[in-house]
Amino acid sequence: MSERSRGRGAGPADAAAPSATLSDAPLYERALAAAQQSILEWRPGADRVTVGPAFWAQIGRPEFGPSLPLADFLGLVAADDRVDLGEMLRGCAAYEGDSAADVSTSVRIVTPQSDVREFTVALSRPGVRTASDRIVVGIVSDATEARRLRRDLVEARNLAEGANRAKSEFIATISHEIRTPVNGILGMTGLLLDTKLGDEQRDFARTVQESGQALLDIVTDILDFAKVESGKLELEQIAFELPEVVASAVRMTEARARAKGLDLLWQPDAKLPREVQGDPGRLRQVLLNLISNAIKFTDKGRVVVRGRVLQRKNRVARLRFEIEDTGIGIGESALPKLFQKFSQVDSSIARRYGGTGLGLAVCKSLVDLMAGDIGVESTVGQGSTFWFEIALPEGGAKLDRPQPTGAPRAGVPVLVVDDNQVNSRLLVALLTRMGHSSDVVDTGWKAVEAARQGSYGLVMMDVQLPGLDGYEAAAAIRALPGKRGEVPIVAVTADATEGDRERYRHSAINDFVLKPIDTNEFTNVVKRWAGTWVGRGAPRADAPSAPADEIIDRAVLSALAARIGIQKTGELVDLYMTDLKERTERMRVALEARDMNALHREAHDLKGTSGSLGLTRLFALGEDIQGATQDGNEKLAFATAAAVGPAAELTIAALADADPRKPPS
Ligand code: ADP
Repeated sequence: MSERSRGRGAGPADAAAPSATLSDAPLYERALAAAQQSILEWRPGADRVTVGPAFWAQIGRPEFGPSLPLADFLGLVAADDRVDLGEMLRGCAAYEGDSAADVSTSVRIVTPQSDVREFTVALSRPGVRTASDRIVVGIVSDATEARRLRRDLVEARNLAEGANRAKSEFIATISHEIRTPVNGILGMTGLLLDTKLGDEQRDFARTVQESGQALLDIVTDILDFAKVESGKLELEQIAFELPEVVASAVRMTEARARAKGLDLLWQPDAKLPREVQGDPGRLRQVLLNLISNAIKFTDKGRVVVRGRVLQRKNRVARLRFEIEDTGIGIGESALPKLFQKFSQVDSSIARRYGGTGLGLAVCKSLVDLMAGDIGVESTVGQGSTFWFEIALPEGGAKLDRPQPTGAPRAGVPVLVVDDNQVNSRLLVALLTRMGHSSDVVDTGWKAVEAARQGSYGLVMMDVQLPGLDGYEAAAAIRALPGKRGEVPIVAVTADATEGDRERYRHSAINDFVLKPIDTNEFTNVVKRWAGTWVGRGAPRADAPSAPADEIIDRAVLSALAARIGIQKTGELVDLYMTDLKERTERMRVALEARDMNALHREAHDLKGTSGSLGLTRLFALGEDIQGATQDGNEKLAFATAAAVGPAAELTIAALADADPRKPPS
């Protein structure tokens, strides 16, 4: 390059043209250099760009001439930035107007040591006009450090946020895991309390139960909090009855208020909308938290819950809820910290009343998610009023759940599907106490197999199972022929949000019970569904119940036999049967490996070969699986594929019967 040979020029002062310019002012240059800045001037007439000495030092060419043609100056700049800088300079030179405005751009320059330096070039517009020329002037600032710092900061922030999210996810997982054994403790203690116990033992067992409940409350808070923090908490948007949700929160806290001798009142405004859309579970949670706090921090007097409409517009109601207590109140200085994480107003209070200081933080997060506001007014010694305001769309579809028919009955064989021993033992114990027998399996696959072989009156299905999950297993059971495919399936789940309920409604699952298991609720649900059992007599696996023509279209086989002869058709059938057994096995393997591509291929062939022999059921299954794999709907694909095994058995049995070589009966 020629730059170097042109180098060793004089500094701006020596290079000065006879007329005075800004860059002739060494004092300014020195002052600017202290701020990592240099003056730039460009005289288009003379085609000279002059930049102060600090710049040359910054780009690692201190020996370089301060004055050079524009093209050479631009040649120093990274190719990507060259066009912008050139346009900006030329634009300034050509500017005819008078309105003053500064323009700037960022450029990168690579030093001879291969460091990338970043500069901001800011030009003043219009420049200086002389009789013969128009001088473009500006400042070049070294922004390398500032940008590096900013990038480091962004990176550090991203790292910190990532670590924080990872931590929250970890906490969410752990607290979820903790709930399972606590669930066992609570359930088993409940059972224990129902047995004959001495006074002292009863007292011990009650203490275990209360402690378990307290532990569960804390873990639930932590879980919610961690979910909010890691962005895992999503709100639902479904229709629900607003007054009922508030009333249920009040009902759930009534006993505690009564035990403390407090009045707990729910005063809904007459204009409160009945049906709204939103997340009833989360709304109830906020109310429960605030009402529980009010009861906790009030020793005498009352707690009043109010709800009213602030505004109604376009069928959206802005609602305000207030929870007023006559309790200890909160000092002014503590108010700002109140809704922050892990903050209790006063550690001595925490010790007296207990708590994690997470409740209000969770409330705030939830109300924030609902795009609402939350706050408090309080006077020490007189009481507090916590309030929150949210906007909810009014109206919505009426919710109805399919209702079972049938009277409660005992002695129903129940299939319990749960991979957690504590849970399954608890379920078995509860079922036994109700007079039902039960078998336990621990995977979705085994559940489908058991449902195929046995004749159960009810399936209690854990939703989170390894491999085939609860929904898929339920779908596969539904695909079983005859009564076996109609067995009521009740999901046992830790998180049944309204969305989950909605999902159940659209899935093969009939109902659900929540973990931790509430004995009364459990008993009711089991009674409801066990009542639909019509007794043993469901067909055995080797005696297909579906009418044969659902499985085989004999007309197709006959047509084929008429065309290619009975013998040939029979051979085709034999070939198909052997092939089907292998294919079913391959599909099972693909299913276990969750290999959608393999499944798709097998489904395609299954459809083709079954279609040509008139094997209706397998043809339909092949078509469904293929459709699901094409749509990328893995769940549906796998669930449908799980039904191929049983359908293949039925088909083989029916084929043996329909073999064209067999003399007609
Ligand atoms: P905790 O689980 O500790 O109760 P919260 O976040 O629910 O956590 O509450 C934080 C703190 O706010 C409490 O420890 C208490 O000091 C104060 N507080 C909350 N509600 C009330 C209330 N109704 N009256 C007085 N103090 C309250």
